[in-house]
Amino acid sequence: MKLTAEGLQKALLQTAEQIEQQKDELTDLDREIGDGDHGINMSRGFLAVKKELENKDSFEDLGELSKLVGMTLIKTVGGASGPLFGTIFVKFAAKWNGKDAVEGDELYNGFKEAVDGIAARGKSQAGQKTMLDVWEPFTEALKSDEPLETVIEKALANTKELKATKGRASYFGDASKGVQDPGALSSSILLRQFAEVLNG
Ligand code: ADP
Ligand code: MG
Repeated sequence: MKLTAEGLQKALLQTAEQIEQQKDELTDLDREIGDGDHGINMSRGFLAVKKELENKDSFEDLGELSKLVGMTLIKTVGGASGPLFGTIFVKFAAKWNGKDAVEGDELYNGFKEAVDGIAARGKSQAGQKTMLDVWEPFTEALKSDEPLETVIEKALANTKELKATKGRASYFGDASKGVQDPGALSSSILLRQFAEVLNG
């Protein structure tokens, strides 16, 4: 499994398209266990990312690309999720600075840094029904033989049944059980695109 700057760029453009398609679904979920803005937030962010990518022909440096994406998401997404999605890419940039491709430990270390970054910024941990419940298993799966797509689907299914104990959804208590966390769903959209480029 190898991530190139070109692959990352492709994954981001596909994500922008997919977020548009699932925008209403994301917002509806956030209406059930939040404030009903997650699809709008993510759409605004990824359309801004798409615009940034289209303004440049190509990227050779994963660090430069990740930093641009992270800053763009922080500036545009808003809500609780904006700084968290932004942090993911800022952490990638820190680990992948100056590299045009990463694999093996370098690939894993970037994702691990991102997961730790979400946890630190969100003061959260896996098991609280947030995006972390998808990011963490995905990251650990980079070290296993299990197909990434399977890991994503399993993580989403597990998250759905949890009771939210972090973020806005936690105000809904037991009523959050059985409703998919919007940030977990948007994360799965992004990570499925990563899986696709990683699998070649
Ligand atoms: P807001 O909650 O401010 O309206 P969004 O609706 O854009 O922001 O994003 C909500 C999503 O953000 C949740 O579904 C959850 O996955 C994620 N989230 C919120 N707070 C945290 C946190 N402290 N740690 C990790 N993820 C979080
Ligand atoms: Mg919201």
